[in-house]
Amino acid sequence: MHPPLRGFLRRCHEQFVTDDSGAVADYIPELTRANPGHFGVSLATIDGYVYEVGDSASPFTIQSISKAFVFALALETLGHERVESVIGVEPSGEAFNSIRLTGDNKPFNPMVNAGAIACSGLIHQHEGDGAFDVIHRMLGRFAGRELDVDEAVFASERATGDRNRAIAWLLRNYSVLRDDVDAVLDVYFRQCAVLVTARDLAVMAATLANNGCNPLTGDQIVSPYVVARTLSVMTSSGMYDYAGEWIYRVGIPAKSGVGGGIIAALPAQLGLGTFSPRLDSHGNSVRGLKVCEALSAHFGLHLLNRSDDVRTCIIRDYNAAAVPSRRNRPTFELKILQQHASAIRVIELVGALSFAVMDYVSRRLAGAAPQAALLILDFRRVPSATTAASRLFEEALAGLAADGATIIVAGFEKESRLGQAIFGEDIVLPKLRHFLLLDDAIEWAEDQLIYRYGGFEGLAKTIHLSEQELLARLTSDELDYITAIGVARSFKTGDRIIAAGEPADSLFFLQSGMVSVKLPSGARLASISPGMAFGEMALIERERSADVWADTMVQCLELPLSAYATFRKSHPETGELIMRNLASLLSKRLMLANAKVNLLSAY
Ligand code: GLN
Repeated sequence: MHPPLRGFLRRCHEQFVTDDSGAVADYIPELTRANPGHFGVSLATIDGYVYEVGDSASPFTIQSISKAFVFALALETLGHERVESVIGVEPSGEAFNSIRLTGDNKPFNPMVNAGAIACSGLIHQHEGDGAFDVIHRMLGRFAGRELDVDEAVFASERATGDRNRAIAWLLRNYSVLRDDVDAVLDVYFRQCAVLVTARDLAVMAATLANNGCNPLTGDQIVSPYVVARTLSVMTSSGMYDYAGEWIYRVGIPAKSGVGGGIIAALPAQLGLGTFSPRLDSHGNSVRGLKVCEALSAHFGLHLLNRSDDVRTCIIRDYNAAAVPSRRNRPTFELKILQQHASAIRVIELVGALSFAVMDYVSRRLAGAAPQAALLILDFRRVPSATTAASRLFEEALAGLAADGATIIVAGFEKESRLGQAIFGEDIVLPKLRHFLLLDDAIEWAEDQLIYRYGGFEGLAKTIHLSEQELLARLTSDELDYITAIGVARSFKTGDRIIAAGEPADSLFFLQSGMVSVKLPSGARLASISPGMAFGEMALIERERSADVWADTMVQCLELPLSAYATFRKSHPETGELIMRNLASLLSKRLMLANAKVNLLSAY
């Protein structure tokens, strides 16, 4: 199956390839050699998938599209103050080659020739003779490959570019340019003559859409700050004197060049690159424009056309009376929880946390207290949080803490990007507990309630073998026999008693303390209290399927299977009774698991 977007791009290509209007640029003589029939479309996604249709691999000169990237480079290397001191950011409303400057003798913006020449001048001032190489390398990093230069187009423009020369001299007159005019123009003409394909443009645009990180190579080329500024001037001035119409109709930051290329970069979504050399009266590629318009209209991609609903960010909201932790608890603990666990509120979040999302969450949280003394927020399905979101979060938590709530966060590592955003250095979070796993967070909150309402006195007591579920209805002689062939074992808190993958050659009766059955990932499958067996699946399976850890000091009786086999031979009926006990135990466990699955999927 081909992805549906490919079909759409193909249909666009099919439909617009018949449009022969417009004319190939001829003011640079060498550009008239372009094949007017060429038409390539490429779209790169920010996860690094590239669609290509038509002549997407045909090279042509990048021309004015370079302006956006050289502006980004200037911002990145010289800082915005230096750049803004010589170049404005106002749309000029004029053609790309307008010689008019602003009232204070600056180029209107970096997307018209005057501003672009000023940018190349800044790079030249900074890099000297190496300026073009630096620009060339940067363009290659955006494209994800080394790019060639069309020396013939360069020479042709250099020989005929008197208008640009006039602009450059004017800029020098106003000290916008300080270096040798010809040297700067050589950089500018050469950067315009860099050869790209529609595919290259798509990847370059996708890199802008992806906060400056090339989605194919993973190369972070400029900062997100610089990208936002670059996309700003593309939005207001990228399409020359068609810029106003463009943002109104298409609404995607874009830049075109007289070589016939257009890039369009939709933040966090896609980069589009088109190539078709016939231009309209504004100097924009006729077919390229149509592809952009069709893509935006068909899928409603206008930048300002947003329909996110912040309310979808809470995927589950329940209390621990409805969905308890996986710890199996003794009856007296269960009684406490039955009465009080509704004070543990669990909110599971989903999706990126933005300003509006966190505002919504904070209002829901405010509504949760004071009934919820313990508030658990699960971030397992949250990929990122903006600065705005973490600021709001910080304040929301301070408010909740002041109301006496204890806040517990789970589902991310402190060192992760999300963790950094939430626990950022300058963020002061009151009374905040953090757990990697939601289940651990719920268990901890339950423990708080148990401490508060009764304590753990049951833990210290030792359970006799007769109270073992697996050994129910055995006679005291039989129990004595089992005690005799078993080995008394004790473990310290944190010991691993059983490791997944090991041969299952014994089972354990827990007599005091607590153990947890966990997957190697750390997710807990069950917890075991005195009176329960673990490793009992050895009666059925040959290999341990999970780890078992001592949560406290632990005492148990280990029964080796070899010894048990002998016992079974001499007591065949008792062996059968134990298997029946095991079956009833497993069936109870399954019913409980089903009930939990049912509860969870109800949300
Ligand atoms: N090199 C061309 C020029 O300066 C670039 C113009 C463009 O692509 N609009 O005239």
